[in-house]
Amino acid sequence: MTVPDVRLNDGAMMPQLGYGVFQVSDEEAEHAVEVALRDGYRSVDTASAYGNEEGTGRALRASGLPREELFITTKLWNSDQGYDETLRAFDASMRRLGLDYLDLYLIHWPLPERGLFLDTWRAFEKLKADGRIRSIGVSNFRIDDLRRVMDGSDTVPAVNQIELHPYFQQAGLRAFHQEHGIHTEAWAPLGQGQGLLDDPALARVAQAHGRTPAQVVLRWHLQVGNVVIPKSVTPTRIAENIDVFGFDLSPDDMKAIGELDKGTRVGPDPTSFNMA
Ligand code: NAD
Repeated sequence: MTVPDVRLNDGAMMPQLGYGVFQVSDEEAEHAVEVALRDGYRSVDTASAYGNEEGTGRALRASGLPREELFITTKLWNSDQGYDETLRAFDASMRRLGLDYLDLYLIHWPLPERGLFLDTWRAFEKLKADGRIRSIGVSNFRIDDLRRVMDGSDTVPAVNQIELHPYFQQAGLRAFHQEHGIHTEAWAPLGQGQGLLDDPALARVAQAHGRTPAQVVLRWHLQVGNVVIPKSVTPTRIAENIDVFGFDLSPDDMKAIGELDKGTRVGPDPTSFNMA
């Protein structure tokens, strides 16, 4: 299975579908990432806060795949925000992953009240200028946060990784991204499996295409233009979630899914989320 790439605003190419390892133990991540790489995933999304960068790194090495075929993302945790703290945290992540360069580094949460994300971003810019990171981006940033980064630095984030699924479609933020060349990456693309995948409208579309609701949701994201990083540790689902390139949703299907938006999150609200 070959996954198409999207071009980021710095010219780098990123697979439009990758594999996420949130809430997966280090040992489990090692096994699951190996399965995902065998199935054709080349992009892996982890974070220092997930506690599985080492297991992910072991799986990358065990795969024997050339480094340039892989696209690895990790994220800077909240307590590591700040210029010097970021440089140290980056080194620690790279040691755990066993990599000498990173494809994409993200500020995990903005923590707007701490006021450190611009200092953090300047350290990201330095790491990129030094060739240690190919692309730099953010996660869970709101329009105001993005404006502050763009007004206060020379670099527009390549990516904003945000909660996004048919029940929480974030049209305003997506339009802002599009206007400024920021790529939208969807976390919880399947709504974390809670409720969304039982929606009767998705069941109807899935049945019409001989696909599963999860595949229909992932196909919707791809046709909208989002990058997606679904997570599963179940081998059949890992395979199912990348098998989404052999069919197309019709304009009517897209419209029906577009109408499912409830504006409800499954995860924390970035305005108030400040876990250290
Ligand atoms: P997700 O939407 O990918 O849902 C995962 C859950 O959906 C699984 O645990 C399983 O219960 C179910 N599922 C997966 N495949 C299925 C299938 N084919 N059929 C039926 N059920 C299926 O949610 P997520 O893990 O929260 O998000 C994906 C990735 O996004 C994470 O692993 C992580 O890498 C990233 N993420 C980032 C942030 C952030 O703050 N930046 C937050 C959460 C997640």
